[in-house]
Amino acid sequence: MTTIQNQLNAVRLRIAAACQGAGRPADSVTLLAVSKTFGAAAIDAAFAAGQHAFGENYIQEAVAKITALRHLPLQWHCIGPIQSNKTRLVAERFDWVHTIDRIKIAQRLSEQRPTHLPPLQVCLQVNVDGGTSKSGVPPEATLALAQAVAALPQLRLRGLMCIPEPAIDFEAACAVFKRARDLFESFNAGGLQLDTLSMGMSADLEAAIASGSTMVRVGSAIFGVRPG
Ligand SMILES: *Cc1c(COP(=O)(O)O)cnc(C)c1O
Repeated sequence: MTTIQNQLNAVRLRIAAACQGAGRPADSVTLLAVSKTFGAAAIDAAFAAGQHAFGENYIQEAVAKITALRHLPLQWHCIGPIQSNKTRLVAERFDWVHTIDRIKIAQRLSEQRPTHLPPLQVCLQVNVDGGTSKSGVPPEATLALAQAVAALPQLRLRGLMCIPEPAIDFEAACAVFKRARDLFESFNAGGLQLDTLSMGMSADLEAAIASGSTMVRVGSAIFGVRPG
């Protein structure tokens, strides 16, 4: 087995243990492999070990890999910030977007999503810990954005995503993740039908799963330390 395949298996075991610890079914959490900065060969190795969903941050870099690997049945998730001038590439080439935090970007993605493709699956990025320089919609503005995005024809609103600052310990991480979970549950109680809570990375996936994550985005624990 290659290193990537071993590391992928180790991450799967961590997810399974975290699910068990939380009394949740093992299949209640999806693994998104974050392949930013790694080449098509690394993605190919993960695919050979059964991984189908990949997350990328940089649009141009991602499109090159999506093109190179178009013979494989992969699912591509955009997890980086999106400038207005990149929405067309995202709408045409990705399956999911996790980083919607402005209605203008959502409207452009909906308008530019080719009608022969399924709707773009989207999550709203919520700024759960109020970091000043960070992207993400403030929690109090999230419901209005969710309602507006849910009404766009070529998008399908799936849930919420967050990227909290590293926490000092497990309890502190859970407290922040719980803010996203509470919003998610209140929106569902209010009639939105969300099924995805995208939270947890290499360092904090256990806390995220204990707090209700349904999709963890894991890069370095699978592919190794990123260059730069
Ligand atoms: C890079 C990145 C990840 C993966 O981070 P690791 O710590 O390498 O697991 C997850 N989510 C987002 C939004 C990222 O940019």
